[in-house]
Amino acid sequence: MNQTPSHETHRTGNPRGVGVSFEFFPPKNEEMEQKLWSSFHRLEPLNPDFVSVTYGAGGSTRERTHNTVSRMVRETSIAPAAHLTCVDATREEVNEVIRAYQASGVKHIVALRGDPAGGIGAKYEPHPDGYANGAELVKGIRDIDDFEVSVSAYPEKHPESQNFAADMDMLRAKVDAGATRAITQFFFVNDYYFRYLDRVEAAGIDIPVTAGILPVLNFKQVSNFADQSGTHIPPWLADRFDGLDDDPQVRRLIAASVVVEQVMDLMQQGVRNFHFYTMNHANIIFAICHLMGIRPTRPLQTNLAREQQDA
Ligand code: FAD
Repeated sequence: MNQTPSHETHRTGNPRGVGVSFEFFPPKNEEMEQKLWSSFHRLEPLNPDFVSVTYGAGGSTRERTHNTVSRMVRETSIAPAAHLTCVDATREEVNEVIRAYQASGVKHIVALRGDPAGGIGAKYEPHPDGYANGAELVKGIRDIDDFEVSVSAYPEKHPESQNFAADMDMLRAKVDAGATRAITQFFFVNDYYFRYLDRVEAAGIDIPVTAGILPVLNFKQVSNFADQSGTHIPPWLADRFDGLDDDPQVRRLIAASVVVEQVMDLMQQGVRNFHFYTMNHANIIFAICHLMGIRPTRPLQTNLAREQQDA
């Protein structure tokens, strides 16, 4: 397919109108905290559209997510988006978190239903006094303030969706409730993304649907994520990491080549907005952005500082 997807927003801050955003997870301990902030500072000069910070299953990172995004608001030049889920929480509990984000100056929320505590195969049961799904949560957020609200989108459909039509109905409900952007689950087969954009367009949904890109730094872990999220791992991808479980350095090189191929192909086909699941690793994301033509707008840190960061 060689067409320009029509659901892309265009950004002018970076060359060729390419816009990127970076997703981080909140740190659990001091060491992870340092890693997060060194990765953040490495990527900050690339001037992303926004960065986002995830919300742990069942609200398990409520404080850490809040502290991380609040610090980003206070101390950095990049607008953060706070993820929020409604699993196992009453509306009032969720609203409290929304109001706390509001008080901290957060203007953008990534609104998600979340997963049941039981993990794969467990049935999702909304809290009796809670928001039942992503669409209800979007409405709750917009009722509190005029936040920018991003939501999830699933090129291969969400595993709980009976079919693509039901999946699209949920995306439409989230847009009707006030969502302004969708970010896709990660995918490895670019055609699935383009077919999904066709479905979005056919459904008359006109918010941008940003491609979510996950570098495969740890194939086993990514396979687990893929199982949970219904993402297809093509045999060629498994083959590229075959036999490398104990060779992280080579895995990293291969991860870089895989993600470069994927992103370059998307760009060639007209995609201009990318959301990178960084897993708090900076260098591979920096490298791919460099190849995309995105250069730092401020001086880089010293070589020594860089060497101390992740590879
Ligand atoms: P929804 O959009 O509400 O629903 C997903 C699908 O489930 C729908 O398409 C619909 O078909 C089906 N469905 C939902 N409700 C019903 C119903 N009542 N009846 C029938 N079908 C229904 N998880 C976290 O815990 N923390 C995060 O920070 C986080 N960030 C994410 C960021 C992105 C960009 C993405 C794509 C996912 C993220 N997730 C996160 C994972 C997400 O929580 C899970 O995929 C979860 O299973 C669904 O949440 P959702 O908001 O997509 O659900």
